[in-house]
This record gives sequence, C-alpha cells and structure tokens, in this order.
Amino acid sequence: MMKKYDVFIVGAGVAGLYTSIILKKGTPMQVPNEPLGVAVAEATKIGGLTQYAFIQITKKWAFSGSNLIRTLYSEAVQSKVEFLENSGVTKIIKQSNGDFKIQTTNSEFIAKYVVIATGILTFPNILDSSNRFNIGLHTPEEMVKEIVNNYGWKKVLVVGNNENSIAKLTSKLIESKQFNIVSHYLLRTNINFQSQNYGLNEALLKSYDGILFDYNSYKLQNGSTHFLNNLNVTQENGYIKTNAFGETKVSGLFAVGSVTMPISGVPEAIYSGQVTGLYVGHLLEKTTIADPSGRFPFLPREENWKSSFQHKLEQNSDGDA
Ligand SMILES: Cc1cc2nc3c(=O)[nH]c(=O)nc-3n(C[C@H](O)[C@H](O)[C@H](O)COP(=O)(O)OP(=O)(O)OC[C@H]3O[C@@H](n4cnc5c(N)ncnc54)[C@H](O)[C@@H]3O)c2cc1C
Repeated sequence: MMKKYDVFIVGAGVAGLYTSIILKKGTPMQVPNEPLGVAVAEATKIGGLTQYAFIQITKKWAFSGSNLIRTLYSEAVQSKVEFLENSGVTKIIKQSNGDFKIQTTNSEFIAKYVVIATGILTFPNILDSSNRFNIGLHTPEEMVKEIVNNYGWKKVLVVGNNENSIAKLTSKLIESKQFNIVSHYLLRTNINFQSQNYGLNEALLKSYDGILFDYNSYKLQNGSTHFLNNLNVTQENGYIKTNAFGETKVSGLFAVGSVTMPISGVPEAIYSGQVTGLYVGHLLEKTTIADPSGRFPFLPREENWKSSFQHKLEQNSDGDA
C-alpha cells in the first residue's frame, strides 16, 4: 500500500523546511493525538541553495545560510516531519478523488495537498565543489576582475539555465582578453536524476580552472520544474504561477520559495512558507479552536479564514484561470 500524507512537500531548501515546521507547529490542533502527516522529499541533500549562501540582509547584518538550515532542519526533525532524502520527485498526478499521487526515484506516495519548494535548480549541490566555483552575482566586468584577481583563473566554463544569458556572459569574458579559454555549458532543464550535476562530470571540470555560475540565468529561466509539465502550472520561463497564498491553478497544489519568484531571497522564501503552511494547515480542518489572538497578528482569526482569504487566481490574458 502506498503511504499517505496530509501534505507532501517537494524540496528541502529553506522554503520547504519552513513550510513543514509551520504545518507541524503553527497549526492549532483540536485533537493532539491526530497530528498532521507531513513529508519532505529531497532530490539530494537537505538545505538547497541557502546552505551555500551568506545571507546579506543589510549592509550591517549578514548571517550564515548553513547555520540557518541546521536550525530549521533540527526543528523539523523534532516536530516529526518525515524526510525522504535522495528522493527526487519525477511526476505528480492529480487523481479523480482529488488526492495526488507522487512518484519519486524510489517510491510512490499519496497526499491530500502538495507544496512545491524546488527552488531554481534540481541539483544545487553542483556548488559542493566550491573551490572551483564562483557565483556570477555582479556585472560581467566585475566578474572578470573577481575571477582574474581573486582566483587567477585562465580557463573558464560559464554554466547556467538560459542559453542567451550564458552566451552573452561568455562573449563579455572573451572580449576582456583576460582568459585563454572561455566556453559555456547549458544546464538542461529536462535532466534525469541519474545524471546528477547536469552531466558536468569530473573530466569536464578538470579541463577548466573554474566554473562561473551565471546567476542571471535564473532570473530568466527556472530549471527545477520540468517534472510538473503534465500539470500545466508553470509559466513560459518555468516559474510556477501562484496567488498570494501559494495556490496554483490546480486545486490542492501549492508552491513556495524561489520556484515562484525569480527575484527573491531567504526572507521571501521563509515568508511564503509561513503563509502557505498556515493556509494549508487550516484547509486540513483538523481544528476547531481559534488561534489565540495575537499569536499571528497579521492573519485573520480562524472563523474568518475562509471569507477573509480572497484566494482567486488572477485571470490570464487568455481568460484561463
Ligand atoms: C551564493 C549565494 C548567495 C546568496 N545570497 C543570498 C543573500 O545574501 N540573501 C538572500 O536572501 N538570498 C541569497 N541567496 C538566495 C537564496 O539561497 C535562495 O533565495 C533560497 O535558497 C531559496 O530557497 P528555496 O527553498 O525556495 O529553494 P532552494 O534553496 O533552491 O531549495 C530547493 C530544494 O529543492 C530540491 N529539489 C529540486 N527539485 C527537486 C525534485 N524534483 N525533487 C525533490 N527535490 C527537489 C533541491 O535539491 C533543493 O534542495 C543566495 C544564493 C546563493 C547560491
């Protein structure tokens, strides 16, 4: 028999972790012995892109992404969220009874609600070889200075999801006349889980001094949503379209974090996990007790939840809801 969950979350980055904790700890329970069944499936290892980031909030305040992930993961484990590691989700099917069937690389599951939290990359762990990677967060000119002056690279491979963007960056690097070899490699969006790191194998990596990860690509193209093609919830550039509560146009299917927002960061990922986690928790209707007032002062009291949420999706220009 397939294991059944109330909520199945795809992706254990900051957004997926936070959503899972909110579902387990933020939803007031009428019956304490009837906890929500929440699972998080992760294609590779827990943490997503945040584990590689130093989160800059203001000029005077930044904190370690890996510390944040450690804290959230330990909260989630303590709240009895079930983690399915090395479980890439390959397909999600909406069944006629309203439940979802989730196929992973190892197994199949059933869930009442699904939350997609896959970020912008299926394998952010491509950044594990960090001594040979740099993230192109700046203008091409600054990137040239950084990788020449700080790293001394002469042979550079530019990687990214958007062909135009990586080709443009590559031509700027060639124009600078600072390198012996500059090539580019398109991270295909339609990869299979066996070819982790997008086919960027050791032999290829060794022929370059370093890899420049074209961050700009990811504002243009999401590379983590190919497995949702059958559900038709993504936009042309692969980002998932939702309303303010994370609802997609498929009833019961939600999305949080950077998979929904090309320009975003850790605070936005946390916030979206909070709103969607609370919303889905209340949809499960395992409670009749109102939230203690003031607990979440920015959210309506429980008896008004349904009427106060204007959760209609915006109409597309072609009238498709
Ligand atoms: C170098 C760097 C610096 C950054 N600096 C900042 C900063 O200063 N401030 C800031 O706010 N933000 C920063 N960011 C961005 C921040 O890391 C992202 O906004 C954040 O990670 C988004 O979280 P997420 O949970 O939506 O996605 P992610 O962290 O990308 O997590 C998604 C997870 O889903 C998994 N996944 C994908 N597809 C599947 C699938 N089919 N099945 C199962 N699992 C899947 C992935 O393996 C991944 O673990 C930085 C990022 C980097 C790389």
